[in-house]
Amino acid sequence: MNRIALILVLVVLAALPALSVTPEFWITHLNYIGLASIVVLGLVLLTGIGGMTSFGQAAFVGIGAYTTAYLTTATDMSPWLTLPIGVLITGAVAYVLGTITLRLSGHYLPLCTLAWGLALYYLFGNLDFLGQYDGISSIDSLSVFGLSLAGGREIYYLIWLIVLLSMWATRNLLDSRPGRAIRALKSGGGMAESFGIDMANYKVIVFVYAAVLASVSGWLYAHMQRAVSPSPFGLNYGIEYLFMAVVGGAGSVWGAVLGSGLILTLKDQLQNVLPKILDTNYNFELIVFGILMVLVLQYARDGIWPILSSWWSVLTGGTERRRLDPPPEALALTQRTRPEKGTVVLNVDSIRKEFGGLVAVNDISFTVKAGEIVGLIGPNGAGKSTTFNLITGVTPVTRGQASFMGQRLDVLPARDIAKLGVGRTFQHVQLLPTMTVLENVALGAHLRSNVGVWSAALHAERGAEARLLHEAAVQLQRVGLGDYLYEQAGNLALGQQRILEIARALAADPLLLLLDEPAAGLRYKEKQELAKILDQLRQEGMSILLVEHDMDFVMQLTDHLVVMDFGTKLAEGLPTEIQENPAVLEAYLGGIDDDFNFDESSVEPSSKVVDSVSSLVPARDAI
Ligand code: ADP
Ligand code: MG
Repeated sequence: MNRIALILVLVVLAALPALSVTPEFWITHLNYIGLASIVVLGLVLLTGIGGMTSFGQAAFVGIGAYTTAYLTTATDMSPWLTLPIGVLITGAVAYVLGTITLRLSGHYLPLCTLAWGLALYYLFGNLDFLGQYDGISSIDSLSVFGLSLAGGREIYYLIWLIVLLSMWATRNLLDSRPGRAIRALKSGGGMAESFGIDMANYKVIVFVYAAVLASVSGWLYAHMQRAVSPSPFGLNYGIEYLFMAVVGGAGSVWGAVLGSGLILTLKDQLQNVLPKILDTNYNFELIVFGILMVLVLQYARDGIWPILSSWWSVLTGGTERRRLDPPPEALALTQRTRPEKGTVVLNVDSIRKEFGGLVAVNDISFTVKAGEIVGLIGPNGAGKSTTFNLITGVTPVTRGQASFMGQRLDVLPARDIAKLGVGRTFQHVQLLPTMTVLENVALGAHLRSNVGVWSAALHAERGAEARLLHEAAVQLQRVGLGDYLYEQAGNLALGQQRILEIARALAADPLLLLLDEPAAGLRYKEKQELAKILDQLRQEGMSILLVEHDMDFVMQLTDHLVVMDFGTKLAEGLPTEIQENPAVLEAYLGGIDDDFNFDESSVEPSSKVVDSVSSLVPARDAI
């Protein structure tokens, strides 16, 4: 049904200029909507999906427009040559601005975009060779294969062709390896770094992509208008583009066209209608416009497109049929060679972490060998998660060393540690809830492919993408989530989300797996399943460091235990030894050791032991 709607839209778009009854005014209006849509599409990616607010897009439109205006008038260069030149110049400027400003967080980034928006505007207005505030006129119109695009009805086709191509490319991009990383920018940056993804780099990529789209729009504008001057590239327009993105629905490519259409039409109508209603020539339209904007932001936070598309799906009798088939078979990804069983994989040597006066991890040492499951246990607040964060580079160590296969970890950022083959899950689940389960897991396999933005946008990476998705599906089937591949991750139960995190970590092909409370929220049967999976992984030579509160689970599964309390290592040894260790019993139960009765053969759901341990865990803050 959606396909039919799309074809209808395309047919109407194609037919409009060909019909002589279509008023000239409509064509011009649609041309402006098309030009704006191209810019706003960049903002959808940058602001709506990437979470970076820019008021400065109009300035990039200006660079594209002025480049072609100057080069075609001063040197007789063909506009088809000035297009790539403009794109390169804009890309370079955006790259430099992006590398400097995108590191800034919070309100600094929008402020910087205001600053460069203003700066470029005044630059256009002050440079002699750009005609100062008068600009450049008598720009040639475009022609394709001898066909002149001087008229509005002709250039219309080029504009809308570029709109549709940009939408297609952006959709492709979002639906790909780099796209998944881009979709993690807004809320999953830290998590993505733990899978080796360089998020700062993706910020710059998105920024340059948006600037390039703006530049293309500027090029079209210059040849449609046949004159340029600084004012359409000023801050007002930068703000208007942002409005268009927000009102349309900053998360979807169709939102860009809808937002541009709505805002430009509204502006136009207000300019016509208000003077008649109010019987005055004062410019009230900006005030009314502002009020409408506040209302939209109040009642349609995600913009209007999501509302329309949900109406549409109700109208057409329900949501799209969900694809139930797993992604097709594809060539398996290459795997790391596993170290020989018994070699030391992780060596933690007196690592320490102080948070102000609090010693969260107090000179802890232990090792994990290949093909071994080591349990790290202790009451809430003992410092287990902090230890994980120190090993994986999420938190810097205060002192001490951790090394992985002989390589120092404590000097590396999280991203590089992931590259070595350290995979992890988080105590507080870190998923991208609106992405599918399959895509979330594919994000874990990011490092196992090298598909870049261009091949993704042009849809030329299907082979590599199929391998990634296939790997993600295989890992999901392995952990028992094979029926949920196309479900939104946020719709899974919390226990399943934890299992999803294991699949995501496995998709990275780690040698060492750090699992922070993987069984929390699982039912007894599910825990048994999980234990089986972990045991299987161990047999395949995986090393696992496991934090878990369920003592039955831990005792059943681990080869070795490290017990922490108040940041300090209390004991270490075989599970059977730990069960009898008086210091451990004291820490867990305050000495009521009668209840601390581990029974490995116990298969009872939530045995007395589990109850007593969890109910007597000292109530300290867990992070
Ligand atoms: P566990 O995982 O064993 O429950 P954590 O490692 O989460 O314990 O926490 C250990 C201690 O460190 C707790 O007292 C906790 O409040 C403190 N802590 C953890 N992270 C931080 C932080 N970022 N800033 C300050 N204190 C922290
Ligand atoms: Mg914890």
